[in-house]
Amino acid sequence: MHRPDVATTVADLRARLAPWRGAGERIALVPTMGALHAGHLSLVKAVAETCDRVVVSIFVNPTQFAPTEDFATYPRDVESDLAKLSGSGAGLVYTPAVAEMYPDGASTVVTVGGPSAGLESNARPHFFAGVATVVAKLLIQCAPDVAIFGEKDFQQLAVIRRMALDLSLPVEIVAGATIREDDGLAMSSRNAYLSGDDRRRAAGLYAALSKAAAAIESGTSSASAVADAKRGVQDAGFAVDYVEHRDAASLGPVNPAQPGRIIAAARIAGVRLIDNVPVAASVMR
Ligand code: AMP
Repeated sequence: MHRPDVATTVADLRARLAPWRGAGERIALVPTMGALHAGHLSLVKAVAETCDRVVVSIFVNPTQFAPTEDFATYPRDVESDLAKLSGSGAGLVYTPAVAEMYPDGASTVVTVGGPSAGLESNARPHFFAGVATVVAKLLIQCAPDVAIFGEKDFQQLAVIRRMALDLSLPVEIVAGATIREDDGLAMSSRNAYLSGDDRRRAAGLYAALSKAAAAIESGTSSASAVADAKRGVQDAGFAVDYVEHRDAASLGPVNPAQPGRIIAAARIAGVRLIDNVPVAASVMR
C-alpha cells in the first residue's frame, strides 16, 4: 500500500506541489492535528473522489490551546498516522514543526468576527483566532483547490468559510459529515481520554441532541426542546457548557424557515466534548 511522502518545511511542501500544479492537477488539503481516526479518513476519502492529489497536514497548533488546555498531552503519533493514511488516497503529509509555522517573532493573527461569536468562544476566547491563523497559513502554504473540514466542528467550519470569503482565498471549502461510533458518540481524538462508564455515558450527548432535533421537527418549541436536551446531557453525567439552537448558515438566531443546528459542548470526567445535529427547516413552525 502506498505510504504518503512527508514534507516538513514550507519550501519542501511547495517543491513537491509544483509538478502537480504544473500538470494541472486538482489538489485538496485536509488539515488535521493528527491522532487520526475514521472521521479524518472519511475527509481524505471524500476529497480523493474529486481531486487528483490529497495533502493531509498534521500540526498540533499551539495558538488554539489556552495554557490550561491539553496542548502538551494532546496525542501525537505521526508514525501511526502515516500507517493509517497508507492506501487512503493521501499522497503527501505535511508535518511542520512549530518553529516552521510560527517563525521567531511571529506577530500576525487572523481574527474572524460573525460566526466566531459565542458558543465555543465563550469558553475558549483564544480559540478561533488560533484556528483562523493556522488555517490561513496552511491555505497560503499549500494553495489547494479544495480544503475539507468536518461538520463535527460546526462553528469552526462556519468561521473558516467566512474567512475564506472575506480574504478572497482561492479555495473551495467543503464540509464532511460527522463520523460516529456505533453508539452515536462523534469520533474525536479526545475520546481516547475516556474509559469504562464515562465512555459509555458519553453517548448520551448525541442522544440528547438528536432527541431535541426530532422534537423541534415535530412541533415542540425550540426553547423547550433545548431545555430538555440540557437536562438529558446532564443526566448522562456531563456538565453542560452550552446547548444552543442556531441558524445553520450564519450561526445567528434560528429562523424556523431555514435549516438550523443544535450545537453543544459539555464535559464528562474532565474531557470536553462538542457535537451538533441538524434541524430541518419547516414552513409549519
Ligand atoms: P482535528 O484533528 O480534531 O483538528 O480535526 C481535523 C478535521 O477532522 C477537522 O476538520 C474536524 O472537523 C474533522 N473531524 C474531527 N472529527 C471528525 C468526525 N468524527 N467526523 C468527521 N470529521 C471529523
